[in-house]
Amino acid sequence: MYDLIIIGGGPAGATAGIYASRKKIKTLLITKNFGGLMAGKSVTIENYPGFEEISGSELIGRFEKHLKKQKIEIENDSVVKIEKNNQEFSVLTEKKKQFQSKAIIIASGSEPRNLGLPEEKEFIGRGVSYCSTCDGPFFSHKDVAVAGGGNSGFETAISLTSYAKKVYILEAGKELRADEVLQEKAKQTGKIEVITGASIKKIQGEKFVNSLVFEDQKKDIKTLEVKGLFVEIGWKPATSFAKGLIDLNEKGEIVIDFKNNQTNVPGLFAAGDSSSVLYKQIIVAAGEGAKAALSAYDYLNNLK
Ligand SMILES: Cc1cc2nc3c(=O)[nH]c(=O)nc-3n(C[C@H](O)[C@H](O)[C@H](O)COP(=O)(O)OP(=O)(O)OC[C@H]3O[C@@H](n4cnc5c(N)ncnc54)[C@H](O)[C@@H]3O)c2cc1C
Repeated sequence: MYDLIIIGGGPAGATAGIYASRKKIKTLLITKNFGGLMAGKSVTIENYPGFEEISGSELIGRFEKHLKKQKIEIENDSVVKIEKNNQEFSVLTEKKKQFQSKAIIIASGSEPRNLGLPEEKEFIGRGVSYCSTCDGPFFSHKDVAVAGGGNSGFETAISLTSYAKKVYILEAGKELRADEVLQEKAKQTGKIEVITGASIKKIQGEKFVNSLVFEDQKKDIKTLEVKGLFVEIGWKPATSFAKGLIDLNEKGEIVIDFKNNQTNVPGLFAAGDSSSVLYKQIIVAAGEGAKAALSAYDYLNNLK
């Protein structure tokens, strides 16, 4: 039985772990990976005090190193369910493990939105990707598509031109949402074709993706021969495992008391991008992680 389980190894979870350890709370941190939103994205951070400019992967590497020096246990796993019986929480993971604790901090951040197509999951790792930095090199000299015509979609498409023969950007709306500068940069590559009003209906292939079916602006059904599909249509809070137990708002964020990160369930706290905190930034997530750990400490002391 742990005093505290922290879910997530991004800025919020890592900071909560450091604070919990310094308060000598018996803690287990469960995380899918370290780095969360920043893992696998080539981001340069210029607004984290103390570092005028640092890559996201280096900053999170420093968080991870700092966290691993603490006296807490770490499990690399994914939480699939949380239950509460009396004053005790039970946390179930994808690897079918079960852990008990007196308090929980959810710091599970955000995850990429998917297209919601039934076959999408089945093609992950076989043509469908949510991370161009991780998977782009597999599409050398191939034609690929990017779903989403916002800044992320354009940035992904531009980065893919280093490998792919041709990159299509499929934007469901009639207008592009990306900044002009990015649109101009995309044009200059000479490898990117933008299709607006394109609603993806189906991903086709046997073992691997070999084409997409989409409806164009005139409602005609078209097929696009591509070997890869990079989905860049935004982010959503990674809170599905908490549904039914805690109050979520209409965006799926965990509703917290901004004063102390307490949710509607006593002993259950949330911090960072998975919570209803207004600003989704690294420094905010880290600060919220610290607040949540200190609140959990007070809660545990009051149990005694
Ligand atoms: C492209 C991009 C650029 C950005 N640039 C900046 C910037 O320049 N400056 C800035 O301040 N912010 C920036 N941000 C925002 C910043 O990355 C987030 O606000 C911050 O990472 C939130 O931290 P977090 O700990 O709440 O969540 P996350 O960083 O998302 O971490 C969540 C953690 O939870 C884990 N997890 C998720 N679900 C589960 C589960 N079921 N079980 C176990 N573990 C789970 C994940 O593996 C991850 O480790 C950027 C974001 C993106 C996408």
